[in-house]
Amino acid sequence: MRYVSTRGMAPVLSFGEAMLTGLARDGGLYVPETVPTFTAEEIAALAGLSYEEVAFRVMKPFTGETFTDDELKGAIARAYAGFGHVARAPLVQLAPNHFLLELFHGPTLAFKDFAMQVIGQLFQIELAKQGKRVTIVGATSGDTGSAAIEAFRGLDNVDVFILFPHGRVSEVQRRQMTTPVEGNVHALAMDGDFDDCQARLKDMFNDFAFRDDVGLAGVNSINFARVLAQIVYFFTSAVALGAPARKVSFTVPTGNFGDIFAGFLAKEMGVPVERLVIATNQNDILDRCIRGGDYTKHGVKPSISPSMDIEVSSNFERALYWAYGRDGAAIAALMDELKAKGSFTVSPNAIGALRAVYDSGCVGEARTLEVIGETLKTTGELVCPHSAVGIGVAQAALERDPATPMVTLATAHPAKFPDAVEEATGVRPGLPPRMADLFTRPERVTRVANDLAALETLIRKERRA
Ligand SMILES: *Cc1c(COP(=O)(O)O)cnc(C)c1O
Repeated sequence: MRYVSTRGMAPVLSFGEAMLTGLARDGGLYVPETVPTFTAEEIAALAGLSYEEVAFRVMKPFTGETFTDDELKGAIARAYAGFGHVARAPLVQLAPNHFLLELFHGPTLAFKDFAMQVIGQLFQIELAKQGKRVTIVGATSGDTGSAAIEAFRGLDNVDVFILFPHGRVSEVQRRQMTTPVEGNVHALAMDGDFDDCQARLKDMFNDFAFRDDVGLAGVNSINFARVLAQIVYFFTSAVALGAPARKVSFTVPTGNFGDIFAGFLAKEMGVPVERLVIATNQNDILDRCIRGGDYTKHGVKPSISPSMDIEVSSNFERALYWAYGRDGAAIAALMDELKAKGSFTVSPNAIGALRAVYDSGCVGEARTLEVIGETLKTTGELVCPHSAVGIGVAQAALERDPATPMVTLATAHPAKFPDAVEEATGVRPGLPPRMADLFTRPERVTRVANDLAALETLIRKERRA
């Protein structure tokens, strides 16, 4: 399998190369040249298999020659061994035809663990083979950083630096990043919001001298390996609800568009997905774009679902690439326009292609709290604010189409956002016992300015040679 850039001007790479590279050198994102497909029989045969076995069958066609079957199976087995639930991604029912896919049983209690744990293992195998080392720099709205630090801490060939917006992540998120003791991981609290962190990260990737010097690698959802690992639970949940014989819809709490784009690939691969519903909080740029065709930044407003407080939704570029018939030049032009003007308009053809696949909706702050309260009353489940945004949007989608089962992705554990959950319900969700000492461990964090040169100097100094 070969990987090409969404902007059409970067070298074509193997899976292993694309994984270690992250952002393409033309500023684009790597995508597979073709999407492998499963027949209805192959999908039916997944029923009853373990999560790990489904993961192997779904990921293998994408990883191609980069890993042997045993290497890939071993990586998957180690990745999920530390999860707190044997089903890995269990489904619970919320209401008639409405199901919640619990993606928060990993070590840092958010769905990011599904992909990050796998790529930690895959990086280790690939770097050892190539005798290389890399410096991973990531930007996080909270959950990616903790998942990355958890997945890469203590690994020999990797130094990890995570930029998070100072004061804008929850205390649990912060502590998960600042309490690991391993010397190869560094939490950097930057002045600004998540889009600023992501912009500095992109600047580092576009500084080719720095990039080559430190062996810069990225594990943000621009990394295709992340998206790949997330395709798996769209298969397992659809099959549990009757695929391939029965269609299923998904509602995905969305920020950087990585998770829902994995759902799009599952659909392309043959999973009978009726609708993919984008759920946004008050930062509703994607909802506005799907409805009106205009992608226009209004400024990020901090919310109680901070992992979705984003206006530069990186993986939306991958969705646009498909909507524009895989025309790299068209995507490069749109992204130049966004950089210059802070907005772009999607062509009528492309917006039609997006609407054929995606619906969207947005849920504001007050309604998010209401949904958390109602869900506890009607089901006994405590849900995090991101999952509540999903549930609220899914309810409207179910009214439009009550016949198709709806799966809403629960992207984080309620204990990761205890203040909002307590405000909504009066109940303060507790951390699972395996992480009960999080609040007593010492923290280690470096405050940094929103300044590219200063960041590069710090990283050069702190990484192990
Ligand atoms: C990252 C995250 C999201 C958004 O996922 P994207 O793939 O960026 O769209 C939603 N909820 C939680 C809890 C997250 O950590």
